[in-house]
Amino acid sequence: MTDIKSMTFFELENYIESLGEKKFRAKQLYDWMHKKLARNFDEMSNIPKNLKQKIKDDAGMCSVKEVAHLTSDIDGTEKFIFELYDGSIIESVLMRYKHGNSVCISSQAGCRMGCRFCASTIGGLTRCLEPSEMLDQIYHIQHETGERVSNVVVMGTGEPFDNFDHLIRFLDLLTNEKGLHISQRNITVSTCGIVPKIYELAEKKLQITLAISLHAPNDEMRKELMPIANKYSIQEIMDACDAYVAATNRRITFEYSLVKGVNDQPEHARMLIQLLRGKLCHVNLIPVNPIEERDYQQSTKESIYEFQHLLEKQHIRATVRREMGRDIQAACGQLRKRYIEKKGV
Ligand code: SAH
Repeated sequence: MTDIKSMTFFELENYIESLGEKKFRAKQLYDWMHKKLARNFDEMSNIPKNLKQKIKDDAGMCSVKEVAHLTSDIDGTEKFIFELYDGSIIESVLMRYKHGNSVCISSQAGCRMGCRFCASTIGGLTRCLEPSEMLDQIYHIQHETGERVSNVVVMGTGEPFDNFDHLIRFLDLLTNEKGLHISQRNITVSTCGIVPKIYELAEKKLQITLAISLHAPNDEMRKELMPIANKYSIQEIMDACDAYVAATNRRITFEYSLVKGVNDQPEHARMLIQLLRGKLCHVNLIPVNPIEERDYQQSTKESIYEFQHLLEKQHIRATVRREMGRDIQAACGQLRKRYIEKKGV
C-alpha cells in the first residue's frame, strides 16, 4: 500500500500532482496529518470529497488504533496498546516529567534480537513498522491527551537499527518544521549495538542521543545476555561509538541493566570503568525488570547504588533509571505480550 503519511512533504506534492491535483492540496494534507494530527480523512474538512476518494482508491494513510489504555496509580504513566492495519500489536508509553512529556515508541512488532531478559523478543519478530506507524504512536498520544509531547525515546518493542531506513525517515518527519517539529536533541534512539548502522547514523550527523544497550563489561558475559554479542564485540561497538562522537559531538548513553549476581558486582563496575574512561558518555543503570519466563532477579538497592557510586568516583556520570508504571507492566514489552496472550488486559 502507498502510505501518504510516510511521505516527505515533497514526495506528497509530487504524488498529489500525479493525481492531477493542485500542489497546495499537499500542504493542506500534510498539515492535517502532521500538525493537526487528524485521525482519519473525515476530519480533513477543507479537502474535497473526490480527492479523499482518489487517495483512498490508490493509497491510504497508516494509523494506529488504540485497543487498550492503562494509567498507573503510582506515577500517572500511561500505557497504550495499539493495533496496526494487519492486526499486529504494539505498545507505547507516555511518561510525564517536570521537563515535559516523553513518549516511548516501538519500532517493530516483536523483535528478533533475542536478549535473554527482554519480554519483547519472546514471540520473535512479526514485522517492521512503517515510518507513519512510528509517528502515529506519538500523534495519537498527543491528540488523545491534549498535551504536547516534547521528548521521544525509541526504546519500546523492537530493534530500531533492524528497521534503519524507516527509522531515518521517521526522524526526518518528526523533526520537520512542517510537522510536530520535535527537536533532534529531545530524541533518543536505543540499539543493542548493530555496529555498521552506528557508523551509518554517524554519517547523517544528527543531533539525537544514541543509547547503546551494553549490559555487560566484557564479551563473555554479554554473550550470555545478548545473542548480538556473538556478532559484534564490545571493542567494535566502542570504536563505532568513538566515530559517532567524533561526527556529532553528542554524548553517548550506555544502558546497563543490573541483574542480581550476574553483572552487578563491584568487579564489573571496575571493568566498565576501564572500558568507558575518557569517553564522552553517560551510564544509565536500569534495575532489571524480572519477566516470568526467566529467573533473572533485580539487584538489591545497595548494590545498585554501590555500582553507581563506583562509576561516579571515577568521573563517569551514572544515573539510576526511575521505574515508572510498574503497576501497569509499563516495562519492556510485558503488557504487549500479556495482551497478545489473553487478547485483552
Ligand atoms: N532494541 C533496542 C531498544 C529496545 S529495548 C535496544 O536493545 O536498545 C530498550 C532498553 O530496555 C534496552 O536497553 C533493553 O536492553 C532494555 N530492557 C529490555 N528488557 C528489559 C528488562 N526486562 N529489564 C530491564 N531492561 C530491559
